[in-house]
Amino acid sequence: MAGEDQAPSDATVDWVRRLIGFDTTSRRSNRALIDSAAEHLGAQGCHLTLTTTDDGAKANLFATLAPPSGQRTGGLVLSGHTDVVPVDGQAWTSAPFKAVLRDGRLYGRGSCDMKGFLGVTLALVPAFRGMALTEPVHFALSFDEEVGCVGAPLMIADLAARAVRPRACIVGEPTLMQPVIGHKAIRLFRCRVHGRPAHASLPHEGANAIEFAARIMVFIRSLADSLGSKPRCHDFHPPYTTMSIGQVSGGTAANIVAEHCEFLFEYRSLPEEDDDRIEQAIRAFISHEILPEMRAAYSRADVALERLATVPAFAADAREPFTHLVEELTGAAAGYVSYCSEAGQFSDIGIPTVICGPGSIEQAHRADEWIALDQLAACERFLIDAVDRVCGAPRHG
Ligand SMILES: [Zn+2]
Repeated sequence: MAGEDQAPSDATVDWVRRLIGFDTTSRRSNRALIDSAAEHLGAQGCHLTLTTTDDGAKANLFATLAPPSGQRTGGLVLSGHTDVVPVDGQAWTSAPFKAVLRDGRLYGRGSCDMKGFLGVTLALVPAFRGMALTEPVHFALSFDEEVGCVGAPLMIADLAARAVRPRACIVGEPTLMQPVIGHKAIRLFRCRVHGRPAHASLPHEGANAIEFAARIMVFIRSLADSLGSKPRCHDFHPPYTTMSIGQVSGGTAANIVAEHCEFLFEYRSLPEEDDDRIEQAIRAFISHEILPEMRAAYSRADVALERLATVPAFAADAREPFTHLVEELTGAAAGYVSYCSEAGQFSDIGIPTVICGPGSIEQAHRADEWIALDQLAACERFLIDAVDRVCGAPRHG
């Protein structure tokens, strides 16, 4: 059934190609992409607001296509992140930042996560302009989602400051165009342990940073076991809060008591979990169990626990009318995913939010990332319908 209706517009394919061409790996600036999108949206009559990092190297773009009345509040937000994960060490068969069209798929870094969705939204601006809008359509392009959803909060704070209150938000992460109304929260930490070096034959003269770090890690593991021992919310997979230690480094040589050790860990918690309580338990163990013992050996010993990223959980109300609308338009029941997004940040300020976007998360973050053209076409149809229903003139009769 590869009919015409399964193919996206040329404008969509052109935009997705163009977006893939910007290397917006999170460690780099996204300004070239943002400037290109801003020029297009501005030329189509959108009102533009940029929020940037202090050095201006990265920016969020919030663009509002107002109805004839000029109203800028209310309406529907179409939200996506502009950054992509690195290609370092991945075996790509074509250049990752040059889109390649092959067998009904568009290949390139970010094609699926999530320049496919962004390309559809940018290509549809003229179509939205041609609709009888009574409320605005907003385009939200963020930076640094892949490194802990760091950019979007700046943009969301600016919306609150300007009293822009959208009625609903679609976050276009890849869901194969199925509505998603929940994911876990993430907190990511770095723990740095500073001890005192000594010859390995005289360990009592040192404070072994690796050994103290190991005890903190064992504590984290036991906390994880206790959280995992009582499965609670079966909408999520797995149905409990998880913790994982992902990276460790430290020490100098086998015959030296280690002066330094550091490790990274994270936890992914259910929406009803008390995230602060978990963090406090770890901090209390460090300050009451580990530090007194370390300092008895070495008064300047220290443990620094730094939170590197915080992504709120997303848990929309399944009975929310906007959830039902997205279910109706996609013909699919709302579900849950195991990855994180910016959806919780929009939903936390009271904007009904659903994650729904083209492509599969299976293809995200991988070598030879791709998106199927028929997914882009399905996304076009869905966004036209969603804008019509949320921002169009109410139906009578
Ligand atoms: Zn993403």
